[in-house]
Amino acid sequence: MNQKMKAVQVPKPGSDFEIVERDIPQPGPGHVRIRVQACGICHSDVITKKGLFPGITYPRVPGHEVVGVIDELGADVKEWKKGGRVGVGWHGGYDSTCLACRRGDFVNCANGKICGISYDGGYQEYMIAPVEALAQMPESLDMAEAAAPLMCAGVTTFNALRHSRALPSDLVAIQGIGGLGHLGVPAIGRGPGNALAKKLGADLYIGRVATDAAAELQKLGGASVILTTAPSGKAMSALVGGLGANGTLVVVGASADPVEAPPNQLLSGRKGIQGWAGGIPTDSEDTLRFAEMTGVRPMIEKYPLARAAEGYARMMSGKAEFRVVLTMEQTK
Ligand SMILES: [Zn+2]
Ligand SMILES: [Zn+2]
Repeated sequence: MNQKMKAVQVPKPGSDFEIVERDIPQPGPGHVRIRVQACGICHSDVITKKGLFPGITYPRVPGHEVVGVIDELGADVKEWKKGGRVGVGWHGGYDSTCLACRRGDFVNCANGKICGISYDGGYQEYMIAPVEALAQMPESLDMAEAAAPLMCAGVTTFNALRHSRALPSDLVAIQGIGGLGHLGVPAIGRGPGNALAKKLGADLYIGRVATDAAAELQKLGGASVILTTAPSGKAMSALVGGLGANGTLVVVGASADPVEAPPNQLLSGRKGIQGWAGGIPTDSEDTLRFAEMTGVRPMIEKYPLARAAEGYARMMSGKAEFRVVLTMEQTK
């Protein structure tokens, strides 16, 4: 085997990506090495790019929508096999010992790891991952590059919706037809996206620029769930008025600006605002199985690893339809 590989790293917070040659890493105990086939570019990669996470060290390879094949096992790893197809998402590991973990609530581990932040992620040809971060990838999802976005965007929308109170026939609105929202349609978007939203399976599209989306949702009886995917607290705040009785604004788009709601608006009708962050690897496996069963697939734009900077810029432009995915030349 060629002992060198290509990696795309952020050398220090805020600097440009650089393509470097590194030694192919060896997995330690409790870890496997993955030959990466594809890695989605997520808006949250901005956290690695700009150094927005406390304690992050550099250089760091971003990427938390990784799919590939296990090609080496750590000495004590028995439950995973070489050649197994796996994915790694945002949730990159837990300690099994903190209070949340002892309660089985691994996603809220006090010492949880994040792929591409706590350790090097998928913008590289090979990566090392702890076994507790691995999700099994069904054989039938043969487009590794199509499965990659399901590891973050997919599990986030799917898991948030399936744990919401919405039942079939309830009014569910999705704000933002982007990397996340297009996987969860019905839709509220900024532009004239009607045809696209319908194509994706929406019953109705509300263009927020032209209409008061909250009022439109009230005309329909008020939403049980509004899943807000576009990273804007301001846009989310404008939708609280669209909730019906017992409705919940489920926040999945990551943003630093506040979501604001008048307390009276929440009290009347017992409405809520709830955050939801992805899931653990078994949630990803459920997401993949759901995609397999239903035929839901992300819409993607592919870039080779060497053009990661261009792909990242495309993602940041908000113009990609919809998920930008890096593919590895070594798999061709
Ligand atoms: Zn993500
Ligand atoms: Zn823990």
